[in-house]
Amino acid sequence: MIAEPGSPLASLREEVLGCTKCDLCKSRRHAIFGEGNPAARIMIIGEAPGYDEDVQGRPFVGKSGQLLDKILAACGFTRTQHVFISNIVKCRPPGNRTPSLKEAEVCMPYLKRQIEIINPEFLVLLGATALRYMVGEKYKITAMRGTWIDIEGRKAMPVYHPAALLRNPALKRPTWEDFKALVWKYREIVNPQHHSEHV
Ligand code: SF4
Repeated sequence: MIAEPGSPLASLREEVLGCTKCDLCKSRRHAIFGEGNPAARIMIIGEAPGYDEDVQGRPFVGKSGQLLDKILAACGFTRTQHVFISNIVKCRPPGNRTPSLKEAEVCMPYLKRQIEIINPEFLVLLGATALRYMVGEKYKITAMRGTWIDIEGRKAMPVYHPAALLRNPALKRPTWEDFKALVWKYREIVNPQHHSEHV
């Protein structure tokens, strides 16, 4: 779903698509703004686009994205209705390396503006890099996953990145527990009638 033409989110998208503020613009095919419902109550924040995302110009479309879609479906969430998905940096770091602190610092004002405009109740931080750059260097995903953190009045939950689940299937069970906690909180705060066949 694309933001309405002329809306603050659409203007921000145009800005991001043409951005050359860091060197990642030199090797990217597409800057990936993010997608989902501009009025979503849940925002999902990953690390950076990978190869498939860079080619297709959409977030989370590779194997990790397919797994994320399955998890969301099990929660009764869809990309178009319940969530907005974006990343810490909007352009693919060469070789899928972790974005540097400098790159994150330059790009994250876009993410902060996305959060302000969309104004979600929940932030789901996918993986160690999203946790580190959103919350702080000293926080570790193994210790923090599944816990609720207050980020400027929003409820944020770090969870393992789907790519980590693909590498280590043992992480799937704790991750499912974390997403179940998200569904319960969503029912408590947003929609008591929210339906999921599995939660
Ligand atoms: S990563 Fe962010 S700051 Fe760097 S060029 Fe892309 S959109 Fe701009």
